[in-house]
Amino acid sequence: MAVLTPRRAELRGPRASVRVGLDIGGTKIDGVALGPGDEVLATARRPSPGGVVDVVSTVVALVSDLVGDSTLPVAGVGIGIPGLVDPVAGTVRSAVNLGFGPEPVALADLVSRAVGGVPVVVENDVKATALGAHAVLGGDLTLVSLGTGLAAAIVVDGRVLRGSSGAAGEIGHLALDRDGHLCGCGQRGCLETIASGAALRRAWPHGDEGRSAVHLFAAAEAGDPAAVGVRDRWAAAVALTVRTLALTADSSTVVLAGGVAALGDPLLRSVSDALQQQAVGSPFLRGLALHDRLVLLPGDRPVAAIGAANLWRVEAAR
Ligand SMILES: [Zn+2]
Repeated sequence: MAVLTPRRAELRGPRASVRVGLDIGGTKIDGVALGPGDEVLATARRPSPGGVVDVVSTVVALVSDLVGDSTLPVAGVGIGIPGLVDPVAGTVRSAVNLGFGPEPVALADLVSRAVGGVPVVVENDVKATALGAHAVLGGDLTLVSLGTGLAAAIVVDGRVLRGSSGAAGEIGHLALDRDGHLCGCGQRGCLETIASGAALRRAWPHGDEGRSAVHLFAAAEAGDPAAVGVRDRWAAAVALTVRTLALTADSSTVVLAGGVAALGDPLLRSVSDALQQQAVGSPFLRGLALHDRLVLLPGDRPVAAIGAANLWRVEAAR
């Protein structure tokens, strides 16, 4: 915690300042500048480069895009990024799609030095997105990210749960089937092997994960029985993920996010149907009405970047 203490102290200063949030994804980096009242002052986007040096220089360019003309001081820069993130040390490792290897990269310090000493905090992208969803939707919520992998984040009282080692919400590696597919984590039959975008693509390969998902849902909608079977099995696995999280955190809102969420309403319908089918024989599950809690991550705002900017508000509140 020693690393964060001076940064928090700086935030107790004048409130008239700008917070910058950046969401670093595999293909693009989204940025937002929030004013003192959380208003969006600017947004910007650049393609993601590969490798640490180019990621840092692109981040610096985006910060300049966002606040280069601002007369307000920048209180801090928050960064959401995939991979194994240690927010206290400010390090990232194994962000494979960005060319970050298994050795920790001191991303917070590298960016901070490159932007003139402005304090920088880093967080796992799913956790940062959940904070952004909370900023936009309000209330306690659980966010399920259906991307190449499967992960979740739980926000309670405006704080995202990390746990003792940051693994809170890593639902994808709940192993259910000893005879299932081998998972990247070394176990067999993890939820990630049946409920993620990669799992969908393995069952219905038509290009990348996004294309496979669109193709599968269109074929099922057109009545292809094989597609209906694959879609419904996959949706049932996502529904099982939602149930597991709901019985852990009981959030009033469950947000579906990640690359596969671009499917939109057909995704929402299929998971909602699966949840209702799974509750048919159980008055207990029916009473929880989990299907009524499902929403899609709002697509009209840079939610993940807003969450990254709000990493600063969370730090300030501690
Ligand atoms: Zn696993």
